[in-house]
Amino acid sequence: MINAMTSLPWLHDHFIQSVSALKRFSGAQSILCLGDLDIGRFEFIEALSGWLLCEHPGDQMCGACRSCHLLLNQAHPDLCCIGGVEPQGLVKIDSIRKMIAVMQKTPAVSQRRVAVIHAANHLNQASNHALLKTLEEPEGTGIFILAADTFEDVLSTLRSRCRVIRLSAHFNSDQALDWLQLKAGINLEAARSYLVMADSLPLRALYYAQDSSIQVLMEHLLIWPVMSGHAWNEALKDCSLLDLIHLCQVLALDAIKAQELECSSVWATFHSNWMVWLSRSYRLNCLYHAVVHLKSLKQHVSSHVTLNHSAVLERLRYIWLDAWICEENAFD
Ligand SMILES: [Zn+2]
Repeated sequence: MINAMTSLPWLHDHFIQSVSALKRFSGAQSILCLGDLDIGRFEFIEALSGWLLCEHPGDQMCGACRSCHLLLNQAHPDLCCIGGVEPQGLVKIDSIRKMIAVMQKTPAVSQRRVAVIHAANHLNQASNHALLKTLEEPEGTGIFILAADTFEDVLSTLRSRCRVIRLSAHFNSDQALDWLQLKAGINLEAARSYLVMADSLPLRALYYAQDSSIQVLMEHLLIWPVMSGHAWNEALKDCSLLDLIHLCQVLALDAIKAQELECSSVWATFHSNWMVWLSRSYRLNCLYHAVVHLKSLKQHVSSHVTLNHSAVLERLRYIWLDAWICEENAFD
């Protein structure tokens, strides 16, 4: 047996529950798997597909049968995937039609065929329609697995045809914290901070803990008042805008929480500069305002492939300044 979730232990229970639910049905099915890629969605779906195709599945794929070997060599004829871990454009109708045609054939090796659409939020209207027709009238034993970040990302008519699996971890999840400490070589306190910073997404938390550019971004966010606009643009000209915006969100929310709940800041232990900022008198409404602006900026950045980097940096600088200095003359 291969314990597919050893590498992502916080998904182990999700996997066992999903498998036991699937064991009760043998016919055609559609599954909607929801969760961020950084929770391990891609790896989870790979493991689930492996189990569905395995010739001797227990609670896990056996790892020894012909199907398992083909899968490990990425050459399984009964598995049909659209998309992967990398972001992609809209899924065109031709790809969906091809997938549906393959799914109608008798399986070559396994008991069933499995089709995976790794980014169901990228289906265009025609693709959605074609897929819906297939899911409405399921035939044979084929299983469609659709994946997306959130429930709202998928057309309501489509998701109502699917069994939903929601993947999640908690910022206090022992499994995720143990894993993070081991992988990043950090202590429990640091692991918890990174997991909070990463919205409870363990894979992102590991990236934050290991990537030195993230530490640099944090330092810049904490010393911005002594930086001119020019210095800010220079220092951040090659950074990931999404990471930068996210860190602003994390810090703003940390400050709000620290003041509203009168609790200690998650970041103060790691950044003495942050402690200094938190001791200033800042207005909560300005921070709330900034959080709203950051959210819309983030959506804007994540939905556009080509954006003027320095224009976004400039906008972000204003939002960040505005969060801490509420006077009219803040931008002079
Ligand atoms: Zn097997």
